[in-house]
Parts: sequence; C-alpha cells; structure tokens
Amino acid sequence: MLLQNLREQVLEANLELVRRGLVLYTFGNASGIDRDQELVAIKPSGVPYEKMKPADLVITDLKGKIVEGTLRPSSDLPTHLVLYRAFPKIGGVAHTHSEYATAWAQARKPIPCLGTTHADSFHGPVPVTKSLSEKEIDAGYEENTGHAIVRSFSSIDPAAVPVVLVANHGPFAWGPDAATAAHNAVILEAVARMAYLALGINGQAEPIKRALHDKHFLRKHGAKAYYGQSGSKA
Ligand SMILES: [Zn+2]
Repeated sequence: MLLQNLREQVLEANLELVRRGLVLYTFGNASGIDRDQELVAIKPSGVPYEKMKPADLVITDLKGKIVEGTLRPSSDLPTHLVLYRAFPKIGGVAHTHSEYATAWAQARKPIPCLGTTHADSFHGPVPVTKSLSEKEIDAGYEENTGHAIVRSFSSIDPAAVPVVLVANHGPFAWGPDAATAAHNAVILEAVARMAYLALGINGQAEPIKRALHDKHFLRKHGAKAYYGQSGSKA
C-alpha cells in the first residue's frame, strides 16, 4: 500500500475534526500531500468516520487522477488540489462546516482579530471569499471554490493566515501537514465563536492593536519565535 504514514496522518486528522465536534455527519474532510511524490491522500466520500481505515483513504495525483484506492475520493478533492498547487508550502488541508465559522461564512463577513487567541494562530483577520458566479457553480464548482480561495489570498500570506471562509459555505484550513490543518480548523471555530460572543457584548469592539497582534503571532511563528519548547508547536 502506498504512503502508509501519510494515510495514517490523514485518517487521524479526519478523526480529530470529529472528536472536536467540527463535523456534522460527513460534512468535513481532511487531506495531506507527499510533496516528493506529488501524491495526495484524502478521505473517501461518504464513509462513516468510525469505520474508516487507512486503506480506505484515496491516493490521487495533483490532477485528481486516482493512483490507489477503490473508493471515490471526497467530492471536495478539486478544492484541496487547487490549494496544493497554489500554495506550494502547505502539506495538509481540512474542511468543515463547524457552526460558528460557518455562520460567519454565511454572513459573508471576515472575522476580525479581537484578541490574542486569534493573534496566536492567525496573523490578520480571517478573509471571506467572493461569491461564485452562476457559471462558476455550474461547471467545475469544487475547483472554482479553490480558485475563489486563492484569489482572496492575492495580498495575504497563506502561511500567516492559514484559514479562510468560503462565502455561503464554510471554512477551509491548511498547514504544513494534515494534523496542523485540523488544528487550525479547531482554532478557527473557537476564534469564530469568541468573536461572535465579543461582538454580542460590545458591537463596537475594536480589533486588537497591531503591536499586540504581532507580539502574539511572532512569538510563536517565524524566525524569532520563542514560545513553548523548541521543536514543539504548542
Ligand atoms: Zn463543505
């Protein structure tokens, strides 16, 4: 079987989304990529999580051709592939319909950075994509969803803001591997909920100051990071 390790990592990322309550039934999927072989492992479509085994994951190339697997890949595969092609440093993608992040996506509002929980993980507001046109929905819908995401990152570094809200749909998250993509999806849901609550308490709540935002993000990420133990992500 190809890519045993990657299969296990991707299965674990999918299960993490379920454990954290981000996935309703089968509305969610995670994938990972082996950059050397340019092969992607993704959740199969519609298989119950509790029965999923590493062998059930589907291996495809970057064009979506199935290289190994008997099941159909998640229908969102083309969105994942656009992200892998456009963001060459990412190694994993996660998609959910988690409640609060999806509420912001449905409201088509970017999530402002109101506090340090957000600033620790995302270096800026969480962007929301433009809506797809009828033509984009009609043909190549899932691929066009990926293009809409990429367009909204024309002036944002996808490593600094590894999450997005797809208008009227829900969140996508990514990271250097599938586990980090799932982790970012979990943090995004928490941040979306906190922002919703904070704005309910004070509708005029101001975004965090740039200096505090930078302090929190840069002490955990990048060349000058000093938070946690060396080599750890927490
Ligand atoms: Zn979806």
